[in-house]
Amino acid sequence: MIANTKCQHCGNEFETDGMNRTEFCPHCGKESSIVPQVAVPAPAYTAGTFSTASTLQQIRQQTCYKTLRGLIDLVQILFFVAAGLAVLGVGAGFFAGSDAPAAVKFQIVIVGAASAFILIVLGIAWKQAALLLVDIADCQIRLAGKTR
Ligand SMILES: [Zn+2]
Repeated sequence: MIANTKCQHCGNEFETDGMNRTEFCPHCGKESSIVPQVAVPAPAYTAGTFSTASTLQQIRQQTCYKTLRGLIDLVQILFFVAAGLAVLGVGAGFFAGSDAPAAVKFQIVIVGAASAFILIVLGIAWKQAALLLVDIADCQIRLAGKTR
């Protein structure tokens, strides 16, 4: 009878005729005792199991870079504040220069709105890029801790 068995050393599955009690694994070459594999139905994963979002949340909670993550948030807030100031600048320029020609006012609005938009996009992109790097660093530390 051909059955699948799992190598005790490398975890890879290979086929065995089930005649011997041990077999050499074709993957790692080590001798592994044959454990008959019973077909187990795939476990029904709940939404939380192995979910990337929950793993990420866990990593971020157990971060080694709490200060850095706080700083990333702060910089994003600064970006948004700058965007707000750009909008305010448009308003101020608009009302202060009430005798300015319409073309100039239009330019102020366009430049202000564009810079506010760019600042918000930069703020979001900054946070994602910065968090990405910190997440990678945290994951590396977690993995290093597991293999030790
Ligand atoms: Zn193996």
